[in-house]
Amino acid sequence: LSDRLAETFKNLRTKGKLSAADVDGTVREIRRALLDADVALEVVKDFTGKVRERALGDEVSKALNPAQQVVQIVNEELIEILGGQQRRLEFAKKPPTIIMLAGLQGAGKTTLAGKLAKWLARDGHTPILVAADLQRPNAVTQLEVVGAQAGVPVYAPEPGNGVGNPVKVAKDGVKYAQQKLHDVVIVDTAGRLGVDAEMMKQAADIRKAIDPDEVLFVIDAMIGQDAVATARAFQDGVDFTGVVLSKLDGDARGGAALSVASITGRPIMFASTGESLDDFEPFHPDRMASRILDLGDILTLIEQAQGAFDEEEARKIAEKFSTDTFTLDDFLGQMQQLRNMGSIKKMMGMLPGAGAMKQQLDNFDEREIVRTEAIIQSMTKAERVTPKLLNGSRRLRIARGSGSSVTEVNQLVQRFEQAAKMMKTVAKGGMPNIPGMGPV
Ligand code: GDP
Ligand code: MG
Repeated sequence: LSDRLAETFKNLRTKGKLSAADVDGTVREIRRALLDADVALEVVKDFTGKVRERALGDEVSKALNPAQQVVQIVNEELIEILGGQQRRLEFAKKPPTIIMLAGLQGAGKTTLAGKLAKWLARDGHTPILVAADLQRPNAVTQLEVVGAQAGVPVYAPEPGNGVGNPVKVAKDGVKYAQQKLHDVVIVDTAGRLGVDAEMMKQAADIRKAIDPDEVLFVIDAMIGQDAVATARAFQDGVDFTGVVLSKLDGDARGGAALSVASITGRPIMFASTGESLDDFEPFHPDRMASRILDLGDILTLIEQAQGAFDEEEARKIAEKFSTDTFTLDDFLGQMQQLRNMGSIKKMMGMLPGAGAMKQQLDNFDEREIVRTEAIIQSMTKAERVTPKLLNGSRRLRIARGSGSSVTEVNQLVQRFEQAAKMMKTVAKGGMPNIPGMGPV
């Protein structure tokens, strides 16, 4: 998808003033790229309609740089179809916060239960999992395995008590969590291969019985055009407060799943990107949109930035990326170099379509660099070299040592991992992969 869009925008940028035909041609290309990526037709229509209307309007004809303005509009509208603002989990005022998972069988609910629990536990929560999928013979055992991997307890029905009655198990699980003072309860439920009335009723009954704070609809990004019908069925049958896209690591184009937010009006809250419990991240619509749109520019920027680094340093870093020995110390060094390049923002301004990157650069402000320094300096040598060591208790220690929060430490590690991943791909000569927006 992104290759194609990059090409379209490159053509656009060579133009000074835009004619209606230029706009139409661009919109047509965008439309084709989205349809190729399996985005639902009605979403594409809606999207291109809005882009076209705005692109032909005043904001573009009066703009100093019309082409750049169009790219900006596409970016804004793309963020919109991806759900607008990032939506965080809403915690109950009075614990426990109850999170129910719903979705087809195989969507990734049970795996997600473990991922979510591990992520929450790392942030200082005390989650418990409830096994209310009594459909498949192995479902309870599977959740117990996942719970053990995540290091969180699992509530499962006692033999002879509640077996066969998922609504009762869900209710008992929540009660148990209250007694044991867990602050989050994650209720795993059963799914079927296709949508069916009985499954939907069971999920709706569980929802009624436990009155969850969040109902997360888990959907396999590889599901293709069925995504829309499945999401609608779950919205009608159970309704949900948020969407989780799973299997974004596969070579699915993911476009259909991306339609889900737009069609149901429910935000995508998390992305699941692999079978391991750590392959999981909060979903940021704006980041996803800028990744889709600004790829070409990011690469250009890296080239320019590397020119500005001293050559030797750049060579060393490139080598580290390609040999997978990029450490947090290198990351810190890089940020410090960026700070030295005072002109980088000006340079960004000259790069067409780099709006999103510029925003990221604004994040590289002085305070952030100082905080990053503090956090990295609170790590041991070993942790800096092998960030995989950074488990929950180490992160907590580092947060305390650097006067920051665990969330800030998590964000830093996440940014480092993204940088390492992206730079490694670039070093190999490839284009960074966009989850869910696989090859076109
Ligand atoms: P459930 O039926 O909805 O509970 O789905 P499961 O959690 O049992 O997952 C079904 C299969 O998909 C399992 O083999 C998981 O390992 C796999 N799976 C789940 N999430 C992901 C993901 O994000 N990426 C990949 N590649 N596989 C996943
Ligand atoms: Mg399951």
